[in-house]
Amino acid sequence: MANVKLENIVKIYDGKTEVVKSVNFEIFDKEFVVLVGPSGCGKSTVLRMVAGLEDITSGNLYIDKKRVNDLLPKDRDIAMVFQNYALYPHMTVYQNMAFGLKIKKVPREEIDRRVRKAAEILEISYLLDRKPKAMSGGQRQRVAIGRAIVRDPKVFLFDEPLSNLDAKLRVQMRVELQKLHKKLQATIIYVTHDQTEAMTLGSRIVVLKDGIVMQIGSPMELYNTPENIFVAGFIGSPPMNFIPGEIRNKGDLVFIDEEKTLEINLSSLQNAALKNYIGKKIVLGIRPENIHHFQVEGSSGFAKVNATINAVEHMGSEMLVYVNLNKVQMIARFPSEEIIETDKIAELYFDTPRILFFDPDNGSVVK
Ligand code: ADP
Repeated sequence: MANVKLENIVKIYDGKTEVVKSVNFEIFDKEFVVLVGPSGCGKSTVLRMVAGLEDITSGNLYIDKKRVNDLLPKDRDIAMVFQNYALYPHMTVYQNMAFGLKIKKVPREEIDRRVRKAAEILEISYLLDRKPKAMSGGQRQRVAIGRAIVRDPKVFLFDEPLSNLDAKLRVQMRVELQKLHKKLQATIIYVTHDQTEAMTLGSRIVVLKDGIVMQIGSPMELYNTPENIFVAGFIGSPPMNFIPGEIRNKGDLVFIDEEKTLEINLSSLQNAALKNYIGKKIVLGIRPENIHHFQVEGSSGFAKVNATINAVEHMGSEMLVYVNLNKVQMIARFPSEEIIETDKIAELYFDTPRILFFDPDNGSVVK
């Protein structure tokens, strides 16, 4: 397997539209790295440049320390699995999986061995004689993955492979892909716009926005220590709540929202950089699970907040509570056994030590 390194990779379409802006990251041997970001942020373009399906405008792409910018796709030893499966409709599963090897003139017995082994790994041996139209979306996706596996490539590239599957099957396939990664011990680069998919699959995640890497880290690093407001809002579902306001010094540092009706004492929050924001605008961020309906024992600081409860969504194991804090809409996540009345003002408690702050000008986390 392999190591892939992107160094100052830029993509400009038609000599003017810069869609990938100096991207740098490295994928280590056997790693499962997910590229995630909103639609149009340049994820597929990055993946296609790695595959060799798109020219690299500038920068260097290395596979195993060898610069491969000018290598043809077929010489890069990479296999790509597409969203639309790209199977040949007139061929059986066996023929679809064997096709690439046949072109490469791999001996027939070797092709047979590899196809049957891949089919076994993917549990699709019983489908080998079927044609694509006689299969479900999930089965076709497995065949598309099988076609990549038989090539035994250095790197697997996946471009939104689950987006054509229904929600239940997507969850199943996520688990399957994790198992497959373990079995194959493969280096995988996987593109998705779905942050849940990124969180559940990636050993590391690269978050892209407008062709720029916003942060690289493990799922929990991105969740617990986002470097900027974009990552904070993009990773996590329901998303982090944001309240614009300012910091004041009243002996203790306090946060006051824009409407000046909310005041949160920040003395229990360890954040030395906040004193640089005294008298300045700032954005407070708090995750839904860090807003409570009562003061949780053992926490070092709670801020009481009056908010109007708009709606409650029962999820079974928990409930999502939609509240208004002046003009700011927020979501809190409570245990399902709590009794919440809508259209009433309720006392909520922010778990102060878990509050994050962001600079409204450049979006960076304040720390
Ligand atoms: P993502 O995969 O994140 O949805 P893409 O990499 O497909 O994003 O596209 C990034 C941007 O590049 C988009 O704005 C898209 O419209 C643009 N783009 C993609 N392909 C081309 C092309 N062949 N010519 C011009 N612009 C393109």
